[in-house]
Amino acid sequence: MFDKILIANRGEIALRILRACKEMGIATVAVHSQVDRDLKHVRLADESVCIGPNPSPQSYLNIPAIVSAMEITDAIAVHPGYGFLAENADFAEQVQKSGFTFIGPDADTIRLMGDKVSAIAAMKKAGVPTVPGSDGPLPADGDRCLEIAKKIGFPVIIKAAAGGGGRGMRVVHTEAALLNAISVTKSEAGAAFGDSTVYMEKFLQNPRHVEIQVMSDGQGNAIHLGDRDCSLQRRHQKVLEEAPAPGIPEEVRQAVYESCVQACIDIGYRGAGTFEFLYEDERFYFIEMNTRIQVEHPVTEMVTGVDLIKEQIRVCAGQKLSIKQEDVVIRGHAFECRINAEDPKTFFPCPGKVNNFHAPGGLGVRVDSHLYSGYTVPANYDSMIAKVITYAEDREAALARMRVALSELIVDGIKTNIPLQEELVRDEAFAKGGVNIHYLEKKLGL
Ligand code: ADP
Repeated sequence: MFDKILIANRGEIALRILRACKEMGIATVAVHSQVDRDLKHVRLADESVCIGPNPSPQSYLNIPAIVSAMEITDAIAVHPGYGFLAENADFAEQVQKSGFTFIGPDADTIRLMGDKVSAIAAMKKAGVPTVPGSDGPLPADGDRCLEIAKKIGFPVIIKAAAGGGGRGMRVVHTEAALLNAISVTKSEAGAAFGDSTVYMEKFLQNPRHVEIQVMSDGQGNAIHLGDRDCSLQRRHQKVLEEAPAPGIPEEVRQAVYESCVQACIDIGYRGAGTFEFLYEDERFYFIEMNTRIQVEHPVTEMVTGVDLIKEQIRVCAGQKLSIKQEDVVIRGHAFECRINAEDPKTFFPCPGKVNNFHAPGGLGVRVDSHLYSGYTVPANYDSMIAKVITYAEDREAALARMRVALSELIVDGIKTNIPLQEELVRDEAFAKGGVNIHYLEKKLGL
């Protein structure tokens, strides 16, 4: 096992990783930007290194600074968390070349999954259901593109192979609009991602976002840990998640679980991963794989009882999976509300000093947050400041528990989206389960 891990992240996830390391008896190194020296995990880590000024490119995205911090502290491995460098193949490669371990899959696997065209091809080969589409990059010939679109059937969506964060996509409803949409998406993708490759998929009209958690040791063993529904989104950003996804027939979910596990084995996957799907009319359609731990991983931890970060660390240290598929039993139901420092109406970020912070508690209530009274939320980073997670024996009880938890939560001094979350957990359609990815934006009148 590693004796020292450097945590290349900030905020709640850095604290989450720190706690797992401490429980495992692993020493920790926190790295931080100048403004982040008072972060909770920086105070709690065994060592800390300031890696640069506040803008992320100069600190949390600064590969040489992070690798140097590993060298001077003798950290053996780096945990990237999510965001920042978590899915950066060059970082993983640099870490490995410097003689350290990246807690995640190989650089080549990150690259394979980072390019959506190659990811979809690999998934198809493994038997994972994908969206009907162009089977690879769109050709330069306009007539052939038109043929492909007609075969798929309108509406279609043009997507950048290198796209991410909900950018580099365009929906096309008519033949007349197709060629222009392709050329605009291509040039946008070239400018934004340095790669103008685009592909085409059928545009699903009212899908849900359902994703599958996997864990694999890269030694031929892989398991799934059930699914999550993350359909409540605004601008492709998840707002409220739950596990398991409600109302999916057992045989449909089992089949897709098995295909995800097979895909992990086929590509020699190592670590924690998520297969993201659109789900419509009782069918799953793969859209992408996240080769890292995700924000919403706690809902899976609550219903499986598995510590995903600890298991991720173990398999990346070269150990075999400590759990077998038959040991994974999904029990009860969990919700997660993301709490953001933002105006609940305009969604503008609202950084500033938190005068008073009170977290809810009680049976089945978990709060993952780096906040404390007197902490100042900086303007430089993501606005998420806390995750409130509730667990209970069934969906209704877990939702009731979330209503109580949110009513106890106090974040004083800055604006937050707590009022929006309070409204969502009282929403009738949401309470029934199974709303689609457009539901939240429609409700908000967007
Ligand atoms: P990104 O990597 O940018 O997040 P994804 O491929 O995960 O891109 O897609 C982001 C979102 O775009 C999906 O969650 C969904 O809302 C929408 N989307 C993507 N592909 C399709 C599709 N084929 N049909 C309908 N909606 C889609």
